[in-house]
Amino acid sequence: MADQLTFDDPRTRYPKLHPRKQQQDGTGLQSEMKPVPDLGESTYRGTGRLTGRKALITGGDSGIGGATAIAFAREGADVVISYLPAEQSDADHVLEQIADAGVHGFGIPADLTDAAACRSLVTSAVEQLGGLDAIVLVAGKQVSVIDLADLPDEQFVQTYEINVFAAFRIIQAALPHLRPGATIVTTASLETYQASEERVDYASTKAAINNLSKGIAQQLAPKGIRVNTVAPGPTWTALQISGGIPVEEEKGYGEETPLGRAGQPAELAPVYVFLSSPESSFVVGATYAVTGGMPTP
Ligand code: NAD
Ligand code: MG
Repeated sequence: MADQLTFDDPRTRYPKLHPRKQQQDGTGLQSEMKPVPDLGESTYRGTGRLTGRKALITGGDSGIGGATAIAFAREGADVVISYLPAEQSDADHVLEQIADAGVHGFGIPADLTDAAACRSLVTSAVEQLGGLDAIVLVAGKQVSVIDLADLPDEQFVQTYEINVFAAFRIIQAALPHLRPGATIVTTASLETYQASEERVDYASTKAAINNLSKGIAQQLAPKGIRVNTVAPGPTWTALQISGGIPVEEEKGYGEETPLGRAGQPAELAPVYVFLSSPESSFVVGATYAVTGGMPTP
């Protein structure tokens, strides 16, 4: 059976999207998307790269975080995923895949706009897993607003709380638990470098998370803890159809990439695995672009 290691043509590994116009409220449910994004359920094959690791993955119910959680489990890691309570059904799907991989999986609903919730998420993850040595921060908020004049102050603040402040708070709370060899992977975006005029709040948080990660990487490397960042390009996820992009842009989504199509979450997961695995031992403070060829500096 084909898996992520099958030699094929990257242009046609996934078909071009023909999504029906769709919009969901809140963060959206991936299970209700048409088509449903691929988290690697039937393709990702583990090879023991994260054996025995204890991982916390935020936003692990769906999309890039969900695909990463499934990949981590199949690589041998026990996994805690966090998500919003309304996303429990998406989380259950991922937790089922984790259980099928024969490792331990736990779901912890938590609203990361709340500072105390960020800290107690770390405490609960350490309790459930019996330690913590891999942190993967994928949770994020992206809401397009065409006119700057219409951008609500509350949205601006929340986007920073989830995308930037939560990352700082979770990493800081985790510090006492991280031993040499532990890894942290954060999630930036192509928009780190190419600010979208429709997403000035979001794009600027992604520049912030990229910079924050490089600063923290320098401080933690002398302690044997590696921090790196993934910068995804256009990827088919619930984020986009719950206000992330204007509904008119759903048709042809991702076709501007040199590969001519959007990415699928399953195509991001291997990079999170690599950056968390000891095989990337000399990779520190790096940003890995996974953009289908959209150029980054
Ligand atoms: P997604 O909607 O599947 O995942 C985002 C997750 O963030 C949600 O599932 C939710 O659990 C979590 N989240 C949102 N608000 C939260 C809150 N208040 N508290 C706790 N958790 C919250 O979409 P995705 O595209 O897989 O997003 C994952 C990451 O990838 C985000 O950081 C996003 O910015 C980044 N990214 C995505 C794309 C893309 O094209 N999809 C491109 C670049 C970067
Ligand atoms: Mg979700």
